[in-house]
Amino acid sequence: MASYYIWTIGCQMNKADSERVKGLFDSWGLAPAPDVQSADTIVLNSCVVRQKAENRVVSKIGSLAALKRKRPDASIIVIGCLVDGQTDELRRLYPHVDAFFKAGEYGDIAAWGVSKGLGGANPPVSPFAKGGRDMTSLFARGREDLPSPFANGGENPSVSPFAKGGRGMTSLFARRGEDLPSPFAKRGENPPESPFEKGGQKGDSPVAYVPVIHGCDNFCSYCIVPYRRGREKSRPAAEIISEVRGMAARGVREVTLVGQNVDSYGHDLPEPADLAVLLQELNEIEGLYRLRFLTSHPKDMTLRLIRMIAGMDKVCRHINLPVQSGNDEILKAMRRGYTSANYRKLIEEIRRFLPDAALSTDVIVGFPGETEEQFLDTYRLLEEVRFDAVHVAAYSPRAGTLASRTLKDDVPVEVKMARLQRVEALQEKVAGEINSELAGKTVEVLVEKRAGEKWSGRTRSNKLVFFEAGGDLVGKLVCVRIDRTSPWSLTGEPILAV
Ligand code: SF4
Repeated sequence: MASYYIWTIGCQMNKADSERVKGLFDSWGLAPAPDVQSADTIVLNSCVVRQKAENRVVSKIGSLAALKRKRPDASIIVIGCLVDGQTDELRRLYPHVDAFFKAGEYGDIAAWGVSKGLGGANPPVSPFAKGGRDMTSLFARGREDLPSPFANGGENPSVSPFAKGGRGMTSLFARRGEDLPSPFAKRGENPPESPFEKGGQKGDSPVAYVPVIHGCDNFCSYCIVPYRRGREKSRPAAEIISEVRGMAARGVREVTLVGQNVDSYGHDLPEPADLAVLLQELNEIEGLYRLRFLTSHPKDMTLRLIRMIAGMDKVCRHINLPVQSGNDEILKAMRRGYTSANYRKLIEEIRRFLPDAALSTDVIVGFPGETEEQFLDTYRLLEEVRFDAVHVAAYSPRAGTLASRTLKDDVPVEVKMARLQRVEALQEKVAGEINSELAGKTVEVLVEKRAGEKWSGRTRSNKLVFFEAGGDLVGKLVCVRIDRTSPWSLTGEPILAV
């Protein structure tokens, strides 16, 4: 039996893409190989967001040249962010690679596999195939308006927390967030099946990632993603719903919808759709316990979404909302499209409608020109909001981005590192205090795996929990009484499994 090996580096989008390729290969009857050396088809899913990641990718590709010489029948394909529109240079640099595919080009990967005799004679239709959207979108097949969760309250769900009085805008940023009718088809219709839909799940894991939108339109000045992953492209809602239904039937209990800018979901589809309505549909899937979504952008998250989430029992109370900086001049130089006041207002609205929500964020320190006072604006915002988790990175220029072309990387590396450590120390203290409040309380844990003697899983607020128990608990909801806490995890005793 032909075998495959997939090597993945990078974000949740890449992990989700790899799982979808795995799903395709599995559907063709290929077997996963234990290591790269013995595989017949090798897939390298690349990330170039940071130079370090790109170096690892380049080194990995280079290391396969010897394997190709030894086993010329083995196929090597490279997918992901390393591959932009121009593959000629990549082909010249890496002649031992059989094919290159841009991120999300599932249909092209499938067609390539068919041409190599790996799969069936008919290449499956890519969910992103050019011109194929009308056929796969259920927008073409009738609509059923869902009742608005705001219908009885007389509230205007479309007002953004950023909106300036009297503008009647749906968002300060005025791109989306209208009070949309449901774009989804009548239930009971069979949406088209994707050949990739068995992907998204790691082994027998009860948790899965499902990409809902690829690419990004934002062009933050420091980020290479829009250049490599291209513009935003949403998947048809029917396809996502069908995929998640199938996953739930196969034992997946938690699904995270992923996209570089997941709040933008649907704006490019033929009929209006948005993340809130998609979540609302998925919230009704039987057998699915939990829903999450990543990554949000503060300028695209609407009050409508926050309010609608408040009425959905399966959507976890955990919001990841990258702030990047607490200083308005730095935010402007980053081209983030919001101010620190906008961000604070959004946090206020989240806490108002989702009072039990855990919050996490991303921060970049040492952006070009960042003064001590500007850094302190970020530090003070973190102190004030008290996030459950903060992912902090020191700025490093990425070739090809606006910041690398126009801004001097002038913050000394030791200053960057000192700022990074100050943020980490603050966050360790804050997270330790937040988690210590859970001591003696009972939390619901979705068990994901065994780690040594212990089971591990996450709470709805995304806190990692360890506990000891017998039996097979994977995919079960277990109530755990917490007896020990740290800034990074919780430990306790199981009291009830569902
Ligand atoms: S929102 Fe900004 S940081 Fe995030 S992927 Fe898009 S361009 Fe990059």
